Amino acid sequence: MHTRTLSELAQALQTGETTSEALTRETLERIRAHDDNYNSFVTVAEERALEQARAADQARADGNAGPLTGIPFAHKDIFCTEDLLTTCGSHMLDNFAPPYNSTVAQKLDDAGAVCVGKANMDEFAMGSSNETSYFGPVTNPWGEGLVPGGSSGGSAAAVAARLVPAATATDTGGSIRQPAALCGLTGLKPTYGRISRYGIIAFASSLDQAGTLTHDARDAALMLNTMAGFDPKDSTSLDREVPDYTDNLESDLGGLRIGLPKEYFSDTLSPEMAEQVRNAISEYEKLGATVKEISLPHSHLAVAAYYVIAPAEASANLSRFDGVRYGHRCENPQDLNDLYLRSRSEGFGEEVKRRILVGTYALSAGFFDAYYLKAQKVRRLIQQDFTDAFSEVDLIMGPTSPSPAFAQGDKTDDPINMYLEDVFTIASNLAGLPAMSIPGGMVNDLPVGLQIIGNYFDEARMLNAAHRFQQVTDWHQQVAPNSV
Ligand code: GLN
Repeated sequence: MHTRTLSELAQALQTGETTSEALTRETLERIRAHDDNYNSFVTVAEERALEQARAADQARADGNAGPLTGIPFAHKDIFCTEDLLTTCGSHMLDNFAPPYNSTVAQKLDDAGAVCVGKANMDEFAMGSSNETSYFGPVTNPWGEGLVPGGSSGGSAAAVAARLVPAATATDTGGSIRQPAALCGLTGLKPTYGRISRYGIIAFASSLDQAGTLTHDARDAALMLNTMAGFDPKDSTSLDREVPDYTDNLESDLGGLRIGLPKEYFSDTLSPEMAEQVRNAISEYEKLGATVKEISLPHSHLAVAAYYVIAPAEASANLSRFDGVRYGHRCENPQDLNDLYLRSRSEGFGEEVKRRILVGTYALSAGFFDAYYLKAQKVRRLIQQDFTDAFSEVDLIMGPTSPSPAFAQGDKTDDPINMYLEDVFTIASNLAGLPAMSIPGGMVNDLPVGLQIIGNYFDEARMLNAAHRFQQVTDWHQQVAPNSV
């Protein structure tokens, strides 16, 4: 069963070939037996999952089953799950079992999906290699000692290792797409506001967006159908109808206009990577699309603007972890200041502290105009680049990450180099646009991601393009050598 996609499992449940309880037991056994190889889970919720599975089987028997009913999946450990440990990869929250569900968790519960556990991640979603987690690094099933990407590295490794068919994830600057690229998966970050952020531990609120990691576009569409939608509990959630994202998957791509940003095929991208991405794009020409070069002239400013805006928002968001209300509290505080100081010093890791420092600095009086305001102006220009591009093309394509999976330890001493992992992904977060990564080739026997960026709320078109590509290629079916 574990080699099947989510849609195939849905079929197997529907025809009675298996039950959710059997599937969930198999999933839990596989996690228990093999996750030491990857460290992709922080928490495995055995009892809770089996209860949900039995409820799902009952719902099916009662004629109340939907496509996700009974399907085991993992939540990135950033989604609050009622009474289930939600650590955000941090010592600060290693004792936090939320009293409520995030909207995403609630929607998946309501759909009858079975949460088997919480996936490891970079601490507070800050990182590109899953090496900043308090719970240790995650290993990519594509090779011993390779990073799975980050920050949703646990979600990606768990799906690539075929421990679960799908996982939720979040993307603030690339954390769904870059791990998808490095692990050979389909990763979808929808339009900002498409999925509620309520109950997702905030990193940079104007950029954070939930999404999915799956094996293919059809599975992403099924997950999105359930996860998307207006939520009055999130003031940035957008009140727009949710289409059935599986409706358009088969549409013909004849006449589709694809733009290739010339800035994405520059020195930052090795010739081998560029060749794979170009080969993938030529498949689209065979499918009837037209391809032309476009320009996103402010691309080179995206990483710099992001590393002002994201830390600024993070420094404000993380001020709530004060050792008083919830989360880690130091032993024997001498006074209030000591309580704040030591709880935060002990609770946060190095990368998180670096971001809080940078963000506090950028927001401080005297520097606000020079850094934060300037970065916001750059953000506006980046958004305008995309608006201009989408007047000429329907989708933008290019690489997801500058290189395939790299070795653990390779970039940990060089934060700037680590930050550049997201050089191609950050701009769509700054603009709030939907974007995906799909497996599009191989370099050195490692997966290469093809990035697809769409216009606002054009997820259906992106999924259509991804699905048609997956019908004529088999990159998404390659199995990671160290998967089980
Ligand atoms: N790697 C980026 C960062 O560390 C993006 C992380 C994310 O998307 N959550 O900020």
